[in-house]
Amino acid sequence: MESEVLFDLANIPADPPKMRSICNKCERPSRVCWCGALPDPPLSPRNKIIILQHPAEEKRSLRTAPILHLGLKEGSCLIFKGKHFPGRNHELEALLQQPNTLLLYPSPKSIDLREIQSKHIDCNFNLVLLDGTWPQAKAMYSGNSILHGIQQIKLVINGPSNYIIRTQPTEGCFSTLETAAEALSILEGDNVYREKLITPLKSLCDYQLQNGAVSHESKEFRIKNNTYPKLVGKRLNKVLKSAEILQPS
Ligand SMILES: [Zn+2]
Repeated sequence: MESEVLFDLANIPADPPKMRSICNKCERPSRVCWCGALPDPPLSPRNKIIILQHPAEEKRSLRTAPILHLGLKEGSCLIFKGKHFPGRNHELEALLQQPNTLLLYPSPKSIDLREIQSKHIDCNFNLVLLDGTWPQAKAMYSGNSILHGIQQIKLVINGPSNYIIRTQPTEGCFSTLETAAEALSILEGDNVYREKLITPLKSLCDYQLQNGAVSHESKEFRIKNNTYPKLVGKRLNKVLKSAEILQPS
């Protein structure tokens, strides 16, 4: 009996187990929760955002689509996860077939969103965004024929992205959140989307940078400034080196 009590006592942990508190709204650890920076009340656009999210995107720790989902009123930002669309989702199938649906996809066929907006001021659009890296987005496009019939649009944005944690492939390459915020500001004719939806992202980036994340400039910036490591490939480097050796001094 006594030994049992001693056994129990010996097995009481010296410190209570550490519970990681998770925000039940954004589902992130409380110390990196950005909910306090969300627009309150959520913004209510007339236009709708439809995000088709690549499965790999959901696993990233710095994904931005949830900020958009929580920053807009219910039903204004719909997120569909997967690689094959519409799948068995009839709501999505109907949305993708509506004539007022636009696909943000830069290609020779795509039209500047500002041009569309200026011609159809009273129209409400469904704006489809492919959420993933550029190769993932390209694969999603080519693998889903329902997307091929949708009017393709592009955004012309100036200035570097706020989202500087991930290396951006080129200047003007924006996160899904920034792209959607910019597009909504154009379609709604209201800067509030551009300003307020980005605030949680800024606070997230500030936190990450303060805690040791490296700020990555875009490849384009690094190539221009000769700091991009893959600027000269191995083979070319060899050729250059042998040329140096062969050069008469
Ligand atoms: Zn939160």
